Amino acid sequence: MVVLKSPSEIVLMRQAGQIVAVTLAELKERVKPGITLAELDEVADRIITQHGAIASFRGVPNSDPDAPAFPAAICTSINEEIVHGIPSVRRLREGEILKLDVGAYYKGYHGDSAISVPVGRVSKEAEELIRVTEECLWAAITVARAGNRTGDIGAAIQNTAEPKGFSVVREYTSHGVGRELHEGFTLLNYGKEGQGMLLRPGLTMAIEPMINAGKWGTKVKKDRWTVVTIDGKLSAHFEHTVAITDGEAEVLTRLDS
Ligand code: MG
Ligand code: MG
Repeated sequence: MVVLKSPSEIVLMRQAGQIVAVTLAELKERVKPGITLAELDEVADRIITQHGAIASFRGVPNSDPDAPAFPAAICTSINEEIVHGIPSVRRLREGEILKLDVGAYYKGYHGDSAISVPVGRVSKEAEELIRVTEECLWAAITVARAGNRTGDIGAAIQNTAEPKGFSVVREYTSHGVGRELHEGFTLLNYGKEGQGMLLRPGLTMAIEPMINAGKWGTKVKKDRWTVVTIDGKLSAHFEHTVAITDGEAEVLTRLDS
């Protein structure tokens, strides 16, 4: 079911979104060769908790009921890992790309946002992949307006990524967000303009293109969480939680200046 938010609910979602934004900004500063993923997780958990929120992802059940729930505060995914990487004592190395995905639950609402960060100097291809993936997110946000449809968002992402020779991950999607981390509907990151669900003011969603340097196929690692590219090539991911309004979408997880 699609849930429309009242203005007072959007205020709370903005607060959850700012906690996520502050956390990601702090993590980004710390991404350097030598730091471990567990250290980044600890920093994130501390910042989220200090703001009176809790980490949205810890305890999220696996789609496989026999697999463990997500064990950490944030997701950390390196290189060919697309999403849902589990923070470990693994140290970052020069030239890698790290995807940081952060969710915070505050006063009954979730914020959800992700960035891709180069570790030191990275290849031209990695740099381009990161840049284009962020462009995909903003192209999507630009068309996330009342009167448009979910297909417009998917098409905006696809039409930004594919001309550059990159592919759009099909097996994981953008989603409604609010009282639940995944609320109400999924939103494909590819599609056709004018198709899909009509966007209305009060809709809140996490738009999150996952873009691969190679093929769009994915598989899940033995830990039952980490999603990787099927061909071992690089992947990038950016995400914002947005609210549909009568005009431009409000980006709830953008850091207020
Ligand atoms: Mg996320
Ligand atoms: Mg999400």
